[in-house]
Amino acid sequence: MKKSRLLLTVVIFLGLWLLPPNHLPAQKEEAQKVGKEITKRARRIAGKDRLDGVLSGRTRVLDLTYPLNAQTPYWPAPNYEPLKHEFFATLEKDGVLSGRYCAPEHLGTHVDAPNHFERGGIPLDKIALDDLFGYAVVINVRGKAASNPDYRVSPADLQEWERKNHEIPDGAIVLAYTGWGERVENLEQYQNKDSQGVMHFPGWSTEAVDFLLRARNINAIGMDTLSMDYGPSKDFAVHHLLMSAGKYGLENVAHLDQMPPRGGFLIVSPIKIEGGSGGQARIYALIE
Ligand SMILES: [Zn+2]
Repeated sequence: MKKSRLLLTVVIFLGLWLLPPNHLPAQKEEAQKVGKEITKRARRIAGKDRLDGVLSGRTRVLDLTYPLNAQTPYWPAPNYEPLKHEFFATLEKDGVLSGRYCAPEHLGTHVDAPNHFERGGIPLDKIALDDLFGYAVVINVRGKAASNPDYRVSPADLQEWERKNHEIPDGAIVLAYTGWGERVENLEQYQNKDSQGVMHFPGWSTEAVDFLLRARNINAIGMDTLSMDYGPSKDFAVHHLLMSAGKYGLENVAHLDQMPPRGGFLIVSPIKIEGGSGGQARIYALIE
């Protein structure tokens, strides 16, 4: 008798242990599905109001883009160079003002296309248009990055955001706000190189990006530094992870200090370079 009770306990224990952690009774799953549909519909309506609100003045439009000039930050590796811009015709001489410019694709506020790190990856001009729109989720790690310039956004940071707000919605563009934008006027501080020439600025952790790719349905990630991989990175693991999943990234995103943690809607509008690995983008945030 005693033996059989012990056996039963073991069987129950094993059963519970083997149960998948996300196991939900069918009814709860159904309720969640219906809930998600309702939220989706609500968001669609909210999106329409927000666009109308731009014209009526109810919606604020924030420009998350740095201006392009000779001081605009770019990836500081060999063969990259600052923006060159000059006027070849002027009103005084030619009766018309007209110029030309030359810039690395990865200069200023820009998109990193999936082909930047992945063979056969989607080039800049082929990124799906609807992926360039998304709900702005802003993860504030400014305090952590201030005390540790090599800070990497962790799954715990994402969990904290979800605890305070709600689950990261489908179609989100998840932006890390590190406070690095405060250094953008001073390129030395922005790159923050040590005596060995190694840069120190915050980035994403592969664990956090892995969570977003596997457990959430995001459109992109981005941040307010030179790279989604933190400064000392040599393997660009975050770039590889993101781009092998066919997702694009945003770098040197401006004015994240003015963004609410949620409720913003982003419109990402990159230049259309055929086959490009990235390119300058104007990023608008619509905020009600
Ligand atoms: Zn880039």
